[in-house]
Amino acid sequence: MDTKRFETEVIHKGYHALQHHGSLSPPIFQTSTFVFDTAETGASRFAGEQEGYIYSRLSNPTVAMLEERIASMESGEKGLAFGSGMAAVSAILLGLTKTGDHILCSEGVYGCTFGLLQLMEEKYHITHDFHSMSDEDSIRGSITDHTTVIYIESPINPTMKLVDIEMVARIAKEYGIPVVVDNTFSSPYLQRPLELGCDVVIHSATKYLCGHGDVIGGLAVGSNELMSHLAMTTQKDIGGVMSPFDAWLLLRGIKTLPVRMDRHCENAKKLSELLKEHPAVETILFPGDPEFPQYELANKQMKNAGGLISFQIKGDKAAAQSFMNSLQLIKIAVSLGDAETLIQHPATMTHAVVPEESRKQMGINDQLLRLSIGLEAWEDIWSDLEQALNKI
Ligand SMILES: *Cc1c(COP(=O)(O)O)cnc(C)c1O
Repeated sequence: MDTKRFETEVIHKGYHALQHHGSLSPPIFQTSTFVFDTAETGASRFAGEQEGYIYSRLSNPTVAMLEERIASMESGEKGLAFGSGMAAVSAILLGLTKTGDHILCSEGVYGCTFGLLQLMEEKYHITHDFHSMSDEDSIRGSITDHTTVIYIESPINPTMKLVDIEMVARIAKEYGIPVVVDNTFSSPYLQRPLELGCDVVIHSATKYLCGHGDVIGGLAVGSNELMSHLAMTTQKDIGGVMSPFDAWLLLRGIKTLPVRMDRHCENAKKLSELLKEHPAVETILFPGDPEFPQYELANKQMKNAGGLISFQIKGDKAAAQSFMNSLQLIKIAVSLGDAETLIQHPATMTHAVVPEESRKQMGINDQLLRLSIGLEAWEDIWSDLEQALNKI
């Protein structure tokens, strides 16, 4: 079947009716192992001479269906599924580096990715540098003979700063260095880094791809050659694979991704305008705000601005916390991309591990809050925000 539009592929890609006995919903192949007809069949599967399943840590039909679907959604050749976003990040980074190598990173990465980079440096002497990625010459100047990966997030959590993905990919190509993008915040519906010249895309599927707050999972997409190599090394041997049931839940969630994202984006746009006008709000950080410094870049590389809004309230840490405690509908929780609107306080939650000095440099102060706008009626989300803001 030739490639269809995104909204169609998220529903159909990877569905092979004959293997499913016509079942509309894909079967959950809840099995650890697969039976070989003969000893010779087993031998030839292990030798890679015959296609077929062997053992679910290596491959499983329900998980494979999800891998086929995400590859299509990200315009890549091959997808891999992992037990968490961090299992994906660690398998990719460990797979692309060895002792003595250097990773060039965008400034501000997900907290546990930050922790992993530190661990890799301390234990395996794989060094890293953080870079604003805003200036071509400066990026070139920061690439060393040992740089084997450029790793970026865009938008960056929680300041929503963007990296010009196409620019970074173009520079990296000159040096033959692969670019890995954590695309969790945008989902492939809003942004497709492989189409912009990058090499690997990673998702915490826990977030928008799942959309319902009931799975921890990770996905990665890249070329056949690279992904097959990683599948046979850091995925198989470190072993952070996804369970068939989680793959099934993700296949189900992904079907509605475009519809949900449209609603997340629409709600976020509306609420960003209202927040911006409220006297208790100092600033908002939202790529869809026409006054956002990188508004044009957002329009260039993203289909829409996304469902996350960060904002600073007037006051101190105590004011931020009492504002959160006044909320009634909105839930205080980390994570994002769920049907429920969630709020978190980066300085004491997701970025508490970052030293205060670096935190301030990144623009994360005690007044900063991050909202993951849900699918509720925007009027109800606003009523809740407004009554709590009025109490500040
Ligand atoms: C949540 C998240 C991760 C980690 O994913 P898990 O599924 O929690 O392991 C990585 N990157 C970003 C941007 C995230 O938001």
